[in-house]
Amino acid sequence: MLYQEEGKKKIICKDYLTNPKPTQNNIVPVSLREQNIGSNFAISSSEKEYFSAISKSTIIAGTVHNERIDRITEKLISEYVNFCNKYGFSGRIEGMNFQVNILNLDEWNALCYAGGQIFVNLGLINESANDDEIAAVIAHEIAHAISWHTSEKIYEQYLDYLYLNNAVTTAYQYGGTYFGDKVNSFMSNRFVYDFLYPFSRDAETEADLIGVVMMARAGYNPYSAIDVWIDKPSRNEYYSTHPSPETRVNDISNFIKSFEFKVLTKYY
Ligand SMILES: [Zn+2]
Repeated sequence: MLYQEEGKKKIICKDYLTNPKPTQNNIVPVSLREQNIGSNFAISSSEKEYFSAISKSTIIAGTVHNERIDRITEKLISEYVNFCNKYGFSGRIEGMNFQVNILNLDEWNALCYAGGQIFVNLGLINESANDDEIAAVIAHEIAHAISWHTSEKIYEQYLDYLYLNNAVTTAYQYGGTYFGDKVNSFMSNRFVYDFLYPFSRDAETEADLIGVVMMARAGYNPYSAIDVWIDKPSRNEYYSTHPSPETRVNDISNFIKSFEFKVLTKYY
């Protein structure tokens, strides 16, 4: 659980704002959760996925939408980069290559690959009431990248794969060669990372909270994140991998009113 130890976390927040450590690469900024994974594999795999997606998509370029999205994204990214560099988290963004593209799709959606490449759908731009709402979504997506959530997904899927792989040994042991071979051929080279596999609920909550801190630091109204996540029928698909809108709104609203939020957004 995030933010579990009320007393302790306040001390940690203060400590790393006033006495930043030289490197805290295994700690997620803002949430201060410790991780035991790296980002390299996720960054290189997601780069391949990004280039493949780019080759199949219609990209919008040279329009007023691009100027607007570039401006919003630039502000957010420079805030993330400044924050990571200033407070000893620079290892978190190593190897990332931040850039943004607008996809000519009506669906309300945005994503940020592990390597920092961002896609924003035209449908999201058209449905947003203002820059603050767009910033809320992009900040949430960048937070997934900074938090190495894709690495965690890959690691979890790999553990599932290893668990399933034990079935081969068991199949030979109890089912003989014929059955063992059948299971073995089914399992061979089966581990292929699924990029569409959803993030966990905890990862979504973490991205929400990091996102509101970063959008506020970049000069956007954090309360707009609440307007964005209030349920709308066209966003059902997006919500299917996220906590319920009511939970998100409550969590974000409580966080914005909290001590941490004030500390993290007050001191630049
Ligand atoms: Zn998310």
